[in-house]
Amino acid sequence: MPSASMSGWTKNKRKRKRNMKNNLPEIDVVFDADTIAKRIETLAGEIADKLPEDLLIVVVLKGSFVFAADLLRALDRAGMRPRVDFITLSSYGTRTESSGTVELTRDISEDVKGRSVMIVDDILDSGRTLAFATDLMTARGADSVHTCVLLDKHEKREVSIEADYVGFPVDDLFVVGYGIDIAHLFRSLPFIGVVRQD
Ligand code: 5GP
Ligand code: MG
Repeated sequence: MPSASMSGWTKNKRKRKRNMKNNLPEIDVVFDADTIAKRIETLAGEIADKLPEDLLIVVVLKGSFVFAADLLRALDRAGMRPRVDFITLSSYGTRTESSGTVELTRDISEDVKGRSVMIVDDILDSGRTLAFATDLMTARGADSVHTCVLLDKHEKREVSIEADYVGFPVDDLFVVGYGIDIAHLFRSLPFIGVVRQD
């Protein structure tokens, strides 16, 4: 596994010192920016081959905003012209373990009735968030509901649900970066990593 010392983020000694001074943990890279970009290009091609051009993409905030932004532009390169809306769902708060209940904190504004919808989320973990979003779109009369997640923690599943499109399978690690946070930190990292445990 490449280490964060290879990235521009921790290569910068001044920043490392500042992080240590502020008690910010070191992050080990799990998927670097280039690996993520290449995978998204492939995913977009697969989605464009299968799903209708007038797709409505529902982005689950906040964690997937960076992934969604890159995926949307890759879909455009693949010839799709999707519409986009955003929903905010929360089950974590500022903790690292899911609370078990999904809360809808901000709804979409589009009417999904009769539409082809694809839900985009950062991580499929217990499955509750994606199941909640899928059930909501189905109950509102969407014609079809597909799902796309960047990371799939398969061993953590508690609800029977699989995503139609998956960026990468991952072990049960608490990841950060590329839009994904821990207590609102690290969303701006260009890679996905884990907090170093030493
Ligand atoms: P689920 O409802 O499937 O248990 O959880 C999915 C949501 O939990 C994801 O959209 C994400 O917001 C959050 N989540 C799951 N695993 C992680 C993780 O490793 N790091 C962070 N920051 N959030 C996670
Ligand atoms: Mg989330």
